[in-house]
Amino acid sequence: MPLEPLLPLFHRLNREHFEGSLTQGHQPLVAVRWSDGRLRRTAGLYRRGVSVAPPLGREIVLSRPLLGSLPREATESTLCHEMIHAWVDLVLKSNESHGPNFLARMQAINAVQDRFEVSVRHRFPVPQQPPRWIAVCPRCGRRTPYRRRVKQAACRQCCNQHHGGRWHASCLLVYEPAPEER
Ligand SMILES: [Zn+2]
Ligand SMILES: [Zn+2]
Repeated sequence: MPLEPLLPLFHRLNREHFEGSLTQGHQPLVAVRWSDGRLRRTAGLYRRGVSVAPPLGREIVLSRPLLGSLPREATESTLCHEMIHAWVDLVLKSNESHGPNFLARMQAINAVQDRFEVSVRHRFPVPQQPPRWIAVCPRCGRRTPYRRRVKQAACRQCCNQHHGGRWHASCLLVYEPAPEER
């Protein structure tokens, strides 16, 4: 499924819910783009800085991996959420994240339409990072997935059972790379 172009959506939301305040003439005050393959932990972000989308210095980035496979409302609601951040920052010139101005605008937008719903937290499934290691206990053979290797970790069950709950080198976990998930 091709990704929806974001600018038309931006202009429409700007007209409908921000009184056109996020453009000057027809120029957006903030750059809007899809992420590359990264940005996997969050659906979208608004940021500013000298090196951000020059010469504007601010941008909204939506997550291609997270939103690309979800229904269109997810994109619209995420873009709208980030546009509220941009509006609080650029129009109100207020330094708040999900503060009173943000919440008031969010509720106003949710009250006047039911095409999508803006929430404070993006409520989309974030794919878990698959574990990279399997820790194997040489004593009982128990296999436990781990994100990262923990040095000197020993099998708790075996230490409890055979060593009175004290760490013992005979129960040191051995790490194997986890099988590739697909
Ligand atoms: Zn936010
Ligand atoms: Zn064990």
